[in-house]
Amino acid sequence: ERFLASLSDLGSAVAPTPNRVADRYAAVPVSSPGHFENTPDTDPAIASHRDRMRALLARVPSSTLGLDLVRVDKAGVLDELLGKAAAANWGGADRRAVLHQVGVALEKNRDVLLEVMVAEAGKTIDQADPEVSEAIDFAHYYAELSAAEVDGATPVPARVTLVTPPWNFPVAIPAGSMLAALAAGSAVVLKPAGPAERCGTVLAGIVRDALAAAGADPDLVTLLQVDEAGLGRELISHALVDRVILTGAYETAALFRSFRPELPLLAETSGKNAIIVTPSADLDLAVKDVVASAFGHAGQKCSAASLVVLVGSVARSQRFRTQLMDAVSSLEVGWPWEMRTQVGPLVEPAAGKLLDGLTTLGTGESWLLAPAKLDESGKLWSPGIRDGVRRGSAYHLTEYFGPILGIMTADTLDEAIDLVDEVDYGLTSGLHSLDAGEVRTWLDRVQAGNLYVNRSITGAIVRRQPFGGWKRSAVGPGTKAGGPNYLVGLSGWAPAPATV
Ligand code: GLU
Repeated sequence: ERFLASLSDLGSAVAPTPNRVADRYAAVPVSSPGHFENTPDTDPAIASHRDRMRALLARVPSSTLGLDLVRVDKAGVLDELLGKAAAANWGGADRRAVLHQVGVALEKNRDVLLEVMVAEAGKTIDQADPEVSEAIDFAHYYAELSAAEVDGATPVPARVTLVTPPWNFPVAIPAGSMLAALAAGSAVVLKPAGPAERCGTVLAGIVRDALAAAGADPDLVTLLQVDEAGLGRELISHALVDRVILTGAYETAALFRSFRPELPLLAETSGKNAIIVTPSADLDLAVKDVVASAFGHAGQKCSAASLVVLVGSVARSQRFRTQLMDAVSSLEVGWPWEMRTQVGPLVEPAAGKLLDGLTTLGTGESWLLAPAKLDESGKLWSPGIRDGVRRGSAYHLTEYFGPILGIMTADTLDEAIDLVDEVDYGLTSGLHSLDAGEVRTWLDRVQAGNLYVNRSITGAIVRRQPFGGWKRSAVGPGTKAGGPNYLVGLSGWAPAPATV
């Protein structure tokens, strides 16, 4: 009864989160987009879907998708490639209709995209599949936004938008960034992240083919297949790049800004995210959501839970810790093409440095569950839980991408919120509590772009749960991907702020 009462009391807290980011476009009136429905995922409970998944996983070890990537030497090619992009334009094509066709093409190619994601980017199928759905959602949602009216303002479309996505969401993020830029009337140059180049190649190919089939210029999308070393400054400083959409480390955004301070930059950056569990929480639900948030894609998400803060009696008793330990030690670690795998490999080649930070205990910390290397290459690790993370310590404040969860404790909810807000980043944040007063306190105080009550803190959904950060988790206009203001922020209706 208390649970239901608190739910009805919470209102928007359990529905789409209130936009608490300093979103300076929130006040621009945009007419609501037309018809939009989220795309369903593949459902392993349906036999035909399951068979499709099995068949595509069987193809993965010998998959050659995206291997036709031809790297060109950067010297001399930038002018040519960017020139080609700058010459491409929408002409008289109907952006809304074309982008809907891109969405249809992405759905038709769902299995191709899944195959390359599993093969290259270490994604298990349960993590990869919603990513394709999200990419499709971006196409249909931005198609509608491209046709929405914005009161009293004129868009200033960029000619060329450079898109630099991360490797951890190698389809949804590049797709979302590209499709938003296209919807805003720009041409796109896509520079996939190193460990996800094959995914970027396949994705760009699908979008280019769909553009051509729908009567638009395929050169509206150009894949930049150049050697990465030293490219940043040259690329960002190039006169034909009019705008950048980046998802990556805060330091990368700061570097881009330093290369060219006046260049409009829309960046979703780092996170160090926590879930607070109070004594009023449904502990079984909290354990389930903490496990999903911390160990999905082996913790390699900006949105992942890296900390859980236990409050009062939850901190003092062993019950939550014991249940958490049981749940985490039962997770299947393995290669992503095996259907049973729940925690896949570490993807970044530089995982060594990362693992130092993840596996070296700080003062006062101890392993509730010690992580262990399970294969020679050092890619497969069993998940770890470190207890006793101290306020102000490295693990409290630093973002690490990996399958480790830290436990902190607090006497009160207020103290727990202080611990969360002391972090420089503010991407996702979670609360498990069935007390409406606690939820209100937390909503008022916690500094993060995406707030989740009594659920996992990963897996934003287009339109329902737009995604964007606060503090050092965003650089630029602060508008949320998959939300109504994203194109407004992107299209230069107002000058982009120049703060890092
Ligand atoms: N949008 C993703 C989510 O909600 C996170 C993206 C990221 O890790 O960069 O889980």
